[in-house]
Amino acid sequence: MRCPFCGNVDTQVKDSRPAEDHVAIRRRRFCPACGGRFTTYERVQLRDLVVIKSNGRREDFDRDKLERSIRIALQKRPVDPERIDQMISGIVRRLESMGETDIPSKVIGEIVMEALARIDTVAYVRFASVYKNFQEAGDFDKFVSELRPQGPPEE
Ligand SMILES: [Zn+2]
Repeated sequence: MRCPFCGNVDTQVKDSRPAEDHVAIRRRRFCPACGGRFTTYERVQLRDLVVIKSNGRREDFDRDKLERSIRIALQKRPVDPERIDQMISGIVRRLESMGETDIPSKVIGEIVMEALARIDTVAYVRFASVYKNFQEAGDFDKFVSELRPQGPPEE
């Protein structure tokens, strides 16, 4: 980030922290050339999030896909639908506030497990057991398709 005082390109980040209820990352920067200090805010647009799969492939983050896998794990569980919506929004906000647009699928899986563990143990175990296979298989698509219940195809 270029220094607004002297134009030096090589400035340093001294401190990064979430701001605006995790919607932004506030970075305090320092310019070693002129000693100037300034602050930047970093915000992530959801459409720009990219999932880095364990095989290194990149794909656009798909909230629907995330939601589908979570809803399947929670199928027939006595959890208030509103609570599920809140959980999914919370997960997406967390991803958005990570300050990186490229997010390893592993990180997403771990965040989902953490969130599920808090609201329903059975759903957590379902998700975690599939997630473990996914780690071995290393494929997010396989991960999601294994979560799909037996029966007629969706839609
Ligand atoms: Zn400077």
